[in-house]
Amino acid sequence: MTTVKAFQLVGYQKPPELREIPIPEPGPGQVLLKIGGAGACHSDLHLMEAPAGSKAFPFPFTLGHENAGWIEKLGPGTTGFAPGDPVIVYGPWGCGLCMNCRVGKENYCHNPGDIKAGGLGADGGMAPYLLVPSTRFLIPLGTLDPRDAAPLSDAALTSYHAVKRSLHVLGAGSTAVVIGAGGLGQMAIQVLRALSGATTVIAVDTSAEKLAIAKRMGADEVLVSGDEAVRRIKDITRGLGAELVLDLVGVKPTLTLAAQVARVLGHLTIVGLGSAALPVNFQGPAKECSVASPYWGYIPELMEVVDLAQAGKIKMLVEHFPLERASEAYHLLHDGKIQGRAVITPNG
Ligand SMILES: [Zn+2]
Ligand SMILES: [Zn+2]
Repeated sequence: MTTVKAFQLVGYQKPPELREIPIPEPGPGQVLLKIGGAGACHSDLHLMEAPAGSKAFPFPFTLGHENAGWIEKLGPGTTGFAPGDPVIVYGPWGCGLCMNCRVGKENYCHNPGDIKAGGLGADGGMAPYLLVPSTRFLIPLGTLDPRDAAPLSDAALTSYHAVKRSLHVLGAGSTAVVIGAGGLGQMAIQVLRALSGATTVIAVDTSAEKLAIAKRMGADEVLVSGDEAVRRIKDITRGLGAELVLDLVGVKPTLTLAAQVARVLGHLTIVGLGSAALPVNFQGPAKECSVASPYWGYIPELMEVVDLAQAGKIKMLVEHFPLERASEAYHLLHDGKIQGRAVITPNG
């Protein structure tokens, strides 16, 4: 049996390990993908640090839930793709049969026990090959390079979904605040620029370096997190606050700031996994401000994200790492030293 190296999570609060696994064989309807890139996501860090018994994941499994590559082999009876086709993988794999799955919202499958994401419980893309259970999770990449496109499937899709669901509050003269200018934030800024050209986009972060990138990505104003940022956002919005506030961090200071700058009838959207609590009662946030915590995005939205990338309207800053340096990539991510997205390239 031929084996390959895979970067696997072996348990909670244990460092991931490079382990030997067999190359999977695609069954009927399945596809074997040769991985171009697998993004290293902040949520993996949360997973590694989670207390024992947090979620019933079957260890060990291969990390990497942000995947793109080329079709290597089709299982018996699998059609619609040919070996060599560049594709990106939709991450949350639902049952395929419930109402939400049938409209492409597999991230909200009615049978949550059936959601198996490669890299989050099932084997993911930090290995030379990834077994994808169905062609419905594959979107053609056209001229995009899978090594650079991988983050579109999570960093971009998650931001895109969070912005798109709030487009109706972003009319002319509106303001959107993006808290956290890392990989997701940089995407959110570009998506806001692409979908809502008349919106003033304000980025908030603690890192001057990330704010400089945010500016390059199209933010109109960049602010260092803190009380002064709150005052400035109030100034810009004539005291009303922003129509949309995206918190891509989710820790106490960012949620506090978000609640201070979201306006009446606005949207406060928590995407970050910081897991601090936001007090919501009659006193705050602002009246009729909707608070939501979306998870990932829909299959048709991933197609739209790929279209935006192909049109050159969104672009991820990508730093490539060979599989042997996956552990280092996560350490850099943990220390805030990755400017955009770290992408593991198991096939070079
Ligand atoms: Zn992720
Ligand atoms: Zn379903």
